[in-house]
Amino acid sequence: MSTYRIAIVGAGPAGYFAAQALQNLATPEKEFAIDMIERLPTPWGLVRSGVAPDHPKIKTVSKVFEKIATAGNFRLFGNVELGRDITTDQLVDIYDAVIVATGSSLGKKLGIPGEDLHASLSAADFVPWYNAHPDYKDLEVPLDCETAVVIGAGNVAMDVARMLALDPGELDATDTAHHAIDRFKTSKIRRVILCARRGPEHAAFTAPELRELPKLEHTNVIMNKAEVDAAIARVGENAEKDVKSNLSAMELITTRDETFHDRTLEFKFLIAPTEVLGDVRTEAVVFAVNKVEDGKIVPTGEVETIRCGLVISAIGYSAESINGVPYKNGKIDNNEGRVEGTNIYAVGWAKRGPSGVIGTNKSDASDVIKLLIEDLTNSPKKKGDISSLLPGHEIVTQEGWEKINATEVTRGETLGKPRVKAVDLAELLYLAKSK
Ligand SMILES: Cc1cc2nc3c(=O)[nH]c(=O)nc-3n(C[C@H](O)[C@H](O)[C@H](O)COP(=O)(O)OP(=O)(O)OC[C@H]3O[C@@H](n4cnc5c(N)ncnc54)[C@H](O)[C@@H]3O)c2cc1C
Repeated sequence: MSTYRIAIVGAGPAGYFAAQALQNLATPEKEFAIDMIERLPTPWGLVRSGVAPDHPKIKTVSKVFEKIATAGNFRLFGNVELGRDITTDQLVDIYDAVIVATGSSLGKKLGIPGEDLHASLSAADFVPWYNAHPDYKDLEVPLDCETAVVIGAGNVAMDVARMLALDPGELDATDTAHHAIDRFKTSKIRRVILCARRGPEHAAFTAPELRELPKLEHTNVIMNKAEVDAAIARVGENAEKDVKSNLSAMELITTRDETFHDRTLEFKFLIAPTEVLGDVRTEAVVFAVNKVEDGKIVPTGEVETIRCGLVISAIGYSAESINGVPYKNGKIDNNEGRVEGTNIYAVGWAKRGPSGVIGTNKSDASDVIKLLIEDLTNSPKKKGDISSLLPGHEIVTQEGWEKINATEVTRGETLGKPRVKAVDLAELLYLAKSK
């Protein structure tokens, strides 16, 4: 029997699914001892700090993660950051293979003048702020204006727009960070405009998310009927299934009875931002108006200016680089998950870029682990232990995390919430050590 020592860096879905694939593919001849390294004291990656709090069902996948973590031959090393507390060279040296599953956390920039004005934010900062990520708890989020603009045409843009436009009372039963609920309750925002560069047929939303919008109890949802009808006419009968499904969900929105709430979420297609206007703070966004011509997006030459006091861009993510790991085009430079010439492998958003839902990371990780197992030599050659590299460092073990988890869930029970997340790093570390 041979036991190979595998380090997985990043405790998000991709990291857990990589661990699960190792557990599933272990044989009496080839076993795996898995050490999962996570920079935060809490695991689950974007399932904790990305997925919208009003979508609690999605987060139940965390039960699968906890099963993997307690299935044996698995250790969690939370509060350990690769590149800060430990180097890639050190891991490569003591493990038979190092799987990098660190995701894609940097928001892509619009690259337009005025983007850095006050009250111009990235979804990559706003989302973890409302989801109680300790690094973002002090983010300044100005909600003292009537209109907010959200730029992007994917589910993240939709999450951001919905969180700004819904009645904050709808968040009481969720695990939204308390500091964010308090701020949403005093928010003056009543109109949220989601702006997409291309047409309704090109949007990367998914149909279930679109179909959910009319269920918002206190928010008018507005899409331009002529715009959606034109898109349906453009794609015709041969459109792909997902596009058809999206357009039919949009058509439902355009044909339902008008509502008269004091909060509105409006979609505008075929406008591309060219400048954020303002002196110190965001006052308006200027857009070039586009049209679809022979299937291509072309500018009409017209300009539209939307006055707003907050703009949030949600146009994608790129990976934050880690010393000792090669990057190319915002993701790890890899060949089907292999980092050539090394014992490093990439999975999840760090490997593919920011696309795909949680489940996509499962098949992806499983494919990479099959290659990794093929690459393993006949006998394990690495020795050592990550603990020896971190003398005096406060490591959050699986047991420590379970204590944090139990406290958060207990705090939530009395308030009718799934949990109340601890948001302060020192508190999280304290809870991990509690009796
Ligand atoms: C806002 C948002 C909402 C989403 N909503 C949904 C949804 O509703 N449904 C759905 O199916 N999918 C959703 N997704 C997509 C889903 O979250 C991703 O597919 C998935 O999280 C990617 O998994 P990952 O493990 O690659 O990355 P992540 O989930 O980002 O996990 C990466 C982990 O690595 C850790 N890490 C980073 N750097 C280091 C380091 N140097 N050292 C140690 N640890 C490190 C991070 O702290 C994190 O825990 C959403 C994504 C976003 C951004």
